[in-house]
Amino acid sequence: MHPTNLQTTENRELVISWSDGVEATIPFRVLREGCQCAGCNEKRVNPPEKPVGLPILSAAEARPLTIEKMHPVGNYAYNIHFSDGHSAGIYTFEMLRNIGEACAK
Ligand SMILES: [Zn+2]
Repeated sequence: MHPTNLQTTENRELVISWSDGVEATIPFRVLREGCQCAGCNEKRVNPPEKPVGLPILSAAEARPLTIEKMHPVGNYAYNIHFSDGHSAGIYTFEMLRNIGEACAK
């Protein structure tokens, strides 16, 4: 099972066409939040303390989230570069498939 086509929509979603004909639509935000890199997992286990007052976002974080590029990792995954500067995530085909199925519900 592998993606045969990747497209992005104006609504900031990734549309994945799979080799078995299934098509999945996943919002960029869901992909970003599902990142399984060491840094994101660490934040999930030990969330940083909420700052008092207004959070200060960097310019990149304040822009609407988009995917800047995706490139294949071997023949089993994609590395996704997000517009907020985060690019450590490796999304295996299995993960993308599971996320897509969760989004379809
Ligand atoms: Zn991450």
